[in-house]
Amino acid sequence: MRPRNQHSRVLLSKNEGGAITFCESCDVMELEIGAVSLRVDSPSLELLCQLMNEASASMKTYKQEKARFTQAMEQNFGLH
Ligand SMILES: [Zn+2]
Repeated sequence: MRPRNQHSRVLLSKNEGGAITFCESCDVMELEIGAVSLRVDSPSLELLCQLMNEASASMKTYKQEKARFTQAMEQNFGLH
């Protein structure tokens, strides 16, 4: 690993969830999520993005389906 002053970090993205920086000298992305820090190469970052987008989309579907199911249950109970 290079000494810290030889790293040229660029902030790529940042929000309440964490931050992603890119180090040009190491050619790695660094994900900082709370106390956790992950170093990945660009192809891995793409895969991680895909993974999270898919999980996020699945979560939305899951919540919608769950709401629909709960609503149907309430309607069924309302018949009694
Ligand atoms: Zn570096």
